Amino acid sequence: MSYQPQKNRYQAMQYRRCGNSGLKLSALSLGLWHNFGFVNQIENSRNILHTAFDNGITHFDLANNYGPPPGSAEEVFGKILKSDFSNYRDEMVISTKAGYTMWDGPYGDFGSKKYLVSSLDQSLKRMQLDYVDIFYHHRPDPDTPLEETMAALDLIVRQGKALYVGISNYKAAEAERAIDILQKLGTPCLIHQPKYSMFERWVEDGLMDVLGNKGVGCIPFSPLAQGLLTDKYLDGIPADSRVATSGVFLNQNSITPEKIEKVKRLNEIAQSRNQKLVHMALAWLLKDERVTSVLIGASKPAQVTDAIECLANISFSEAELNAIENILNR
Ligand code: NDP
Repeated sequence: MSYQPQKNRYQAMQYRRCGNSGLKLSALSLGLWHNFGFVNQIENSRNILHTAFDNGITHFDLANNYGPPPGSAEEVFGKILKSDFSNYRDEMVISTKAGYTMWDGPYGDFGSKKYLVSSLDQSLKRMQLDYVDIFYHHRPDPDTPLEETMAALDLIVRQGKALYVGISNYKAAEAERAIDILQKLGTPCLIHQPKYSMFERWVEDGLMDVLGNKGVGCIPFSPLAQGLLTDKYLDGIPADSRVATSGVFLNQNSITPEKIEKVKRLNEIAQSRNQKLVHMALAWLLKDERVTSVLIGASKPAQVTDAIECLANISFSEAELNAIENILNR
């Protein structure tokens, strides 16, 4: 039987406005960086997507290079979209990106208009879509004039290939310039996607203020530090964890005794709040109203439902915040 989403799917989720825009995003979004490539079991990928949508997650985040191999996450997603979600496209916000190396030669990397326009055309083919909701420049390009990269984003919106545009991994000053250029072009920057978690705080040094002041949304990626900010590594490295199964972006060297000691102590604070660490780590980001949505990954459907439970408590007392700071600053 074809997929029928849960009827009550919008009841438990919260929706937050993205900056000054008209678009709301689910407080949790699902990223397809891992677990959606040709190397993965498509039935598991499908179940993760069903579980997310059944629980009110409306936003799904991709990039041209997700897989492995690069491009395969978009292809797998496109296949599942067509077979299971074709009646629900208007209930979904789908994003993709270009900016990292995608193909050989001078036109498959960074931020030229040539690369961004052709990469999005390829992404749309792989996903079997006419348009994406959000198209991002994935990382800053030190050599291409920012005016050209932003003009490419503006062009893509005018061509109807994306409804909104965003930037990712831009530091505060370059983000501010990009936002101003887009404003002048008449295509406001919707959102910024930075790495942000209890273990990764660079955005607090200026970027969050720029986004807040300019009315641009923020969607932190790797909010669980790829799984470190859960209780999964407290007693060693489980065989089904990202460290054991992939080990490229998170490996054994990241699991230092000092990190684990911090995780243990954070876990105790979470327990005192009647939460799991995964909930506290996500809530800690969502306590800031400038954060539109937290962009999680999941290797199993149960991780999605687990993460959503964070919404039961996203406020913190002064004492809790201080206790967390004491642990993180050691
Ligand atoms: P997270 O920090 O949320 O890590 C997700 C991983 O943590 C899961 O795959 C799983 O790993 C583990 N995990 C999740 N939930 C639980 C749970 N309840 N209990 C125990 N373990 C859990 O995010 P990601 O690093 O996956 O990044 C999320 C998304 O952000 C990506 O899919 C992508 O869309 C985006 N991103 C963007 C980047 C950019 O440059 N713009 C760069 C990187 C990511 P496992 O079970 O395998 O151990």
